[in-house]
Amino acid sequence: MQIDIPRSLLPTDGRFGSGPAKVRPEALTHLMEHSDVMGTSHRQAPVRNLVRDIQEGLTDLYRLPEGYEVALGNGGSSAFWDLAVFSLIRERSAHGVFGEFTRKFATASAAAPFLSEPRIFESAPGGVAVPGACDADTYCWAQNETSTGAAAPVERVGYGLVLVDATSAAGGIDADISATDAYYFAPQKNFSSDGGLWFAFLSPAAIERAETIRAGGRWIPAFLDLTSAVVNSRQHQTLNTPAIATLLMMAEQIRWMKELGGMEAVAARCAASTSTVYRWAEERDWATPFVRLPEHRSPVVATIDLDEHIDAKQVFSVLRENGIVDVDPYRALNRNQLRIGCYAAVDPDDVEALMACIDHVVERVAH
Ligand SMILES: *Cc1c(COP(=O)(O)O)cnc(C)c1O
Repeated sequence: MQIDIPRSLLPTDGRFGSGPAKVRPEALTHLMEHSDVMGTSHRQAPVRNLVRDIQEGLTDLYRLPEGYEVALGNGGSSAFWDLAVFSLIRERSAHGVFGEFTRKFATASAAAPFLSEPRIFESAPGGVAVPGACDADTYCWAQNETSTGAAAPVERVGYGLVLVDATSAAGGIDADISATDAYYFAPQKNFSSDGGLWFAFLSPAAIERAETIRAGGRWIPAFLDLTSAVVNSRQHQTLNTPAIATLLMMAEQIRWMKELGGMEAVAARCAASTSTVYRWAEERDWATPFVRLPEHRSPVVATIDLDEHIDAKQVFSVLRENGIVDVDPYRALNRNQLRIGCYAAVDPDDVEALMACIDHVVERVAH
């Protein structure tokens, strides 16, 4: 069906993906302005200074406690799960599973032949699960389950290490890092950059755990050895070649976040955008926030179920034809749903415009 959304309704930028997500045009301009470091050695000062700026910027943004370090490496957040399996879980992990990303980490741990069966604390999609204190030495969950749009608290649990997947939370939701031992993420969500790198805020206890496991003789592939990532990160380097453009765009986003007023201001901006979406849904009898409990609703990724007389697939395909992209739900969830990424880079006014566009389309496709 051909539906032309009037120009006056369209957002300035039509990217509302939940990952990868909108890259600010200013980040791309910054990349062009610093193109002289592109194609130069990551072992030399210009790239190492860039990495150091990012490490310092993140330390500032999240007010890292004394002794915490910012480590990084190649492979994105998925690689960090494997690093954690080899370098952080001593014998048994416990997982809060409430969507596809939290499940993937639990599956990786379960598959490791040198670990005991993980303890799983599960909630159906749309809910939140934080692992309870048990016999595990490592507690794992996500601050934001991007596949469902549910957000969990960041807090101490049990007597082990606390590993928080903040891939879509970091740079959009604040957190007390002292409650975690590894708070890890990647740059393609709130940090307005490309995928392919992982970052982790590591506590002294996490670094010590990795060193002890390594000294204990476990076979660890070099690429998944957290101790070597830490050694490289202390020198503002990575084990192997990083994508320099990714670092440049991320550095610009961190600078912009600080200019905006730091995490408090950035978090308020994201929350303003998602509140617009949740309020919009509550005012329409054909739209319902997927996450039932308001306190579990993500402040960065809003998921909205549509009534069955509206085909969400048709809605997001019409939107796509009009330049509004990536509002489809996580594929494995298989719901009649819209999922709207409201990361730091997304302008709250564009979210208002998006909702008006959805109204316009729904009026024409509902039957
Ligand atoms: C996007 C995402 C991941 C995967 O990140 P990659 O960098 O693509 O591996 C993991 N966890 C969460 C919560 C995510 O949102």
